[in-house]
Amino acid sequence: MSEHLFADATGFAGLALRPELLKALTSLGYEEPTPIQREAIPPLLEGNDLLGQAATGTGKTAAFALPLLHRLEPDAKGGPAALVLVPTRELAEQVSQAVHRYGRDLGVRVLPVYGGQPIGRQLQALQRGVDVVVGTPGRVLDHISRGTLDLSDVRTVVLDEADEMLDMGFAEDIEAILAETPQTRQTVLFSATMPPRIDGIARRHLKDPVRIQMGREASAPGEIPLVRQSAYIVARAHKPAALGRVLDVEAPTAAIIFCRTREEVDQVTETLNGRGYRAEALHGGMSQDQRDRVMGRLRAGSTELLVATDVAARGLDVEQLTHVVNYNVPSAPEAYVHRIGRVGRAGREGAAITLAEPRESRMLKAIERLTRQRITLEKVPTVTDLRARRLELTRAALESSLQTDDLERFRVVIESLTSEFDIETVALAAVKLAHEAAGGDVDEQEIPTPRETVRERPEGRDGKRPERRSGPAGAGVARLFIGLGRRAGLRPQDLVGAIAGESGLSARDIGAIQITDRFSLVEVPESAAEMVIDAVSQTTIRGRKPTVRRERYSR
Ligand code: AMP
Repeated sequence: MSEHLFADATGFAGLALRPELLKALTSLGYEEPTPIQREAIPPLLEGNDLLGQAATGTGKTAAFALPLLHRLEPDAKGGPAALVLVPTRELAEQVSQAVHRYGRDLGVRVLPVYGGQPIGRQLQALQRGVDVVVGTPGRVLDHISRGTLDLSDVRTVVLDEADEMLDMGFAEDIEAILAETPQTRQTVLFSATMPPRIDGIARRHLKDPVRIQMGREASAPGEIPLVRQSAYIVARAHKPAALGRVLDVEAPTAAIIFCRTREEVDQVTETLNGRGYRAEALHGGMSQDQRDRVMGRLRAGSTELLVATDVAARGLDVEQLTHVVNYNVPSAPEAYVHRIGRVGRAGREGAAITLAEPRESRMLKAIERLTRQRITLEKVPTVTDLRARRLELTRAALESSLQTDDLERFRVVIESLTSEFDIETVALAAVKLAHEAAGGDVDEQEIPTPRETVRERPEGRDGKRPERRSGPAGAGVARLFIGLGRRAGLRPQDLVGAIAGESGLSARDIGAIQITDRFSLVEVPESAAEMVIDAVSQTTIRGRKPTVRRERYSR
C-alpha cells in the first residue's frame, strides 16, 4: 500500500505537461489530477476539440487551462493565442486568476475583459500584448468592433459554462466572436447541462470533438453505507468558522476532514487546533511508520480529527470513524462515494458532512443522482444553537458525574454554603463553573447565510452595469427572470403593465425591477410567482413572447 505514496510528487507527471506547469501545480499543493483533468488533458494536448459536461467544482478550469498554457508559445508576437468566454465577470476574474497562477513560470500575460471595468486599462493591456483573454461575450465583441482586439492569431477558444451563456442571451454574440477566429482553431466547450442548443453549437463549431461526461449515472454507484448525509452552503470566507461550528455541534469521536490541497490541509489543521480540537494533518509524503503513529493516536482518542487530501488518506482504514467531513464538494461524485465509504462500517452510525460554496450546489445534485440518496441541506449552527449545544454538553457531563463519580468529599462545600444560600443557587454556581471549565460560552459572530444573488449579471454593451441588488429577495418575495431587456425597447412600465394586466396583481404588489440590455429581473410576491410566470409567458411584451422563469440564483 505504501508504494503509491512515493509515486511522482503531483500525480500530474504522467500527463506530459511542461515542467513549468508541473512546478506550479506542486506549489499549489495539487496532488493528482481530478477525473475531468485526467480525461480532458491528453486529448487537448493533442489538439483535439472537446465537448465536456462538467459542473463547477470538478476542476474543469485547470482541465482546459493547463493544455492551453502548454501549447502557448511564450513571447509570441501578435494577438492573443487563446480566448476563454465565460458568462459572468465573477467567472472572468476567477478563470483569469487561475490561468495566471498555473502559468506563473511561463510568464503568461492574461487579461480579464468584462464590462463595468474601465475600458482604458483593458486597451493599454491589449496594446502591450496579451497571450490569453478571458472575457464575457458582450465586452469581447465590444473590443472587436472597436478594432482593439484582433483574434486572428487565436489557436484555442474555450466556451466555459456554455449553457449559462446561452441562458443569458449571448448566443448571437458567441457566433459573432467565433466568426472572428481562424477556422483552424481548437475549440473547447464546457457546460454543466447539455440541452439541444448546446448540441447545435457543438455541431456547428466543434470538429469531431472528444466527448467527456462527468458524474454519469451509468457509472455504477458503489456500495453506499447507510450514513446520515448533510451539506452546508457557506461562502468561502466563512468556511473555517463554519467547519468549527459544525464540528462543535456534531462532536465527532473520530473524524476525517478531506481537503483539496496540502496547503488547505495545513490551514484547516491550524484553525481546528486553534479552536481547541486535537487535529493532525495527514500528508501524502509521510512514511508508513508516521502514518501508523497518527492512526494509533486516533484510535486511542488522543487525536480526534485527521485532516487529509484524498491521496494522503489512501488505504486508510479506521473502524472507529464516526464522521467524514468534506471541506469542499469532492471533484467527482465517485470520490464522494469513496470517501464516505469509510464511515458507517459494520452497522455503526456514521455521518458524512459536506461544506459547499453556493456555486458548488450543482455538484451536490450530481452526487445525489449518482448515489440515489438524499443529502439534506442544513443551516450552519447559529450562536444560539451553539450555546444551547454547549449547555447540553455541560448537562450531560453533570449527569454522568452524578451517576458515576464519588461526590461525597464535596458535600462539606454544599453544607457550608447552604447556611447562606439556597441549594438551587449553589447548584447554579457550580454549573456555571463546570460550564466555563469545559470551554464555556461562545463569543462569536453569526455566520451569514450566503448572499443568494451569487452571480454578477452580464453587463450592457455600453459598459453600464445593471443596478445590482446586494441581497436576496426578501422573505415571501420571488425574483423572476424575463428574457427581454433594453435592446427590445423594454421599459419598466411595460413590465408593470404586462404583469398587472395579465396576472391581476396590482402595481403596488410588484417590487424592484432591474432592466439590463438583454433581460430583466422583477420581484413579485412568492405566493403569486407561479401564476405570474404562467400568465406572462403567454403574453407578448413589445411584440415579443418572453421567456419567464424564476431567477436561478435567488432561491
Ligand atoms: P473548478 O471546478 O475549475 O472551479 O475548480 C474547483 C477547485 O478545485 C478550485 O479551487 C481549484 O483550485 C481546485 N482544483 C482543481 N484541480 C485540482 C486538483 N487536481 N487538486 C486539487 N485541487 C484542485
